Amino acid sequence: MTRNAPAGLPDRIQHYIDGQFVNSIDGDTFDVLNPSTNEVYIQAASGKQADIDLAVSAAKRAFDDGPWRMMLPRQRSRILHKIADLVESQDKRLAELETWDTGLPVTQALGQAQRAAENFRFFADLIVAQSDDTYKVPGRQVNYVNRKPKGVAGLITPWNTPFMLESWKLAPALAAGNTVVLKPAEFTPLSASLWAETFRDAGVPDGVFNLVNGFGETAGDALVKHPDVPLISFTGESRTGQVIFGNAAPFLKGLSMELGGKSPAVVFADADLGAALDATVFGVFSLNGERCTAGSRILVERSVYDEFVEQYAERAKNIIVGDPGDAATEVGALVHPEHYDKVMSYIELGKGEARLVAGGGRPDGFPVGNYVAPTVFVDVKPDASIFQKEIFGPVVAITPFDSDAEALALANGVEYGLAAYIWTNDLRRAHNFAQDVEAGMVWLNSNNVRDLRTPFGGVKASGLGHEGGYRSIDFYTDSQAVHISLNDAHSPRFGRGPDAATSFKTQK
Ligand code: NAD
Repeated sequence: MTRNAPAGLPDRIQHYIDGQFVNSIDGDTFDVLNPSTNEVYIQAASGKQADIDLAVSAAKRAFDDGPWRMMLPRQRSRILHKIADLVESQDKRLAELETWDTGLPVTQALGQAQRAAENFRFFADLIVAQSDDTYKVPGRQVNYVNRKPKGVAGLITPWNTPFMLESWKLAPALAAGNTVVLKPAEFTPLSASLWAETFRDAGVPDGVFNLVNGFGETAGDALVKHPDVPLISFTGESRTGQVIFGNAAPFLKGLSMELGGKSPAVVFADADLGAALDATVFGVFSLNGERCTAGSRILVERSVYDEFVEQYAERAKNIIVGDPGDAATEVGALVHPEHYDKVMSYIELGKGEARLVAGGGRPDGFPVGNYVAPTVFVDVKPDASIFQKEIFGPVVAITPFDSDAEALALANGVEYGLAAYIWTNDLRRAHNFAQDVEAGMVWLNSNNVRDLRTPFGGVKASGLGHEGGYRSIDFYTDSQAVHISLNDAHSPRFGRGPDAATSFKTQK
């Protein structure tokens, strides 16, 4: 299948440094593929250490000498709202580009574009409403928290919903008064360049936002190891997170890590099974299954297991796989042939580990591109690789359980701990399960709907630290404590002897 590229693409995707679109210093580029054909449709500048050095020094200059960090919160907030307006006004264009670059179904990419605008609006509001603590010790001290931006923030992002995930870091980092260097994922560099135009049009001063494209091992690595970048916010695989941890350690950098997941959706027999079916089908097959919080392990109470499995398989077989640009498409093409091969290898492995009841390979009618039929494995044992490993594609593992204790052991029996979805109408069971399940985020009788004020993050191998709401502002700022004495200092008089008078004539 061949598709026409969206109109108006640049000749090449460039870096954006100090207010200018530029090529790499060494002129190097890499190929960018369209996932539904795997044809190269554009080249992107491939950044290295020298490009990162330029971007970081522009960001540092803008932080040290520019107006951004000293602006009134209201002024920065106005600019952030303008960014949100601009993103909203181009949501269809954004969705078109994102779909073309990532293979995400266009209706879902549109939702992500709107969410990106919402992230900017949220942090624009948060910084004007922000208050910090003061503590009074009567007659003795007043202490206050002086919140200060940290400097140049290094932002490293994955390819699954690139523009939205970038907004998630850009908005709080900029709101708090930092300057930034963004290194987007190499599979999907297209939409990130729209930030540059958007920020310029909204009035963000040059050097505040810098973008360097390139590979993780070169551009990303140089950013992590740059001494003038005091904090790194990273979203990606747990293994990459470990490498970045190690590389950042000698610099003692601030790190926020949003990593992989293998989240359970637990369906008890007393649940609204129709609602649970809708949510668990959506939960793993939306965004092509390339979703960190996907409920990719479904645990079902045995008394309703057979019926649930039958209906689930039926629904999966009916999912519309198609051209990502088609509004009717529910599952599009996976991002890249390398990722497609990884997902397919898990499917082959799964065939030897469990019972396949839907999908299991390339769907009919799609001879090219990274298309995978929605795939359902059932009777999956907890030690199976398809139960344990993050596949990050349209593949689900379903397992029966007999008791609450068994459900909990299954839910917690993996290295990850990002999200959990619990389906039950028993209030007590729901809250006790939420308490015991090892997950950074729990949804009770709901799919993944998140209020932007709530903390986002995982436990175990799913991450370190929580962003979201004021916690993001905490990450991107230092909380300096300022202590003011309201009385005499009462310092012990070391070295003066017991009867010595004060040496200052003016002192009472
Ligand atoms: P990845 O780890 O391969 O890459 C993520 C980013 O890190 C890319 O920009 C890459 O170039 C860069 N990178 C790679 N090696 C690096 C290095 N040594 N130094 C610095 N940067 C480096 O992840 P991916 O395949 O792009 O994304 C998929 C993963 O992201 C999945 O595991 C998914 O669960 C996870 N994810 C997590 C969340 C979350 O919030 N927890 C959200 C979305 C995706």
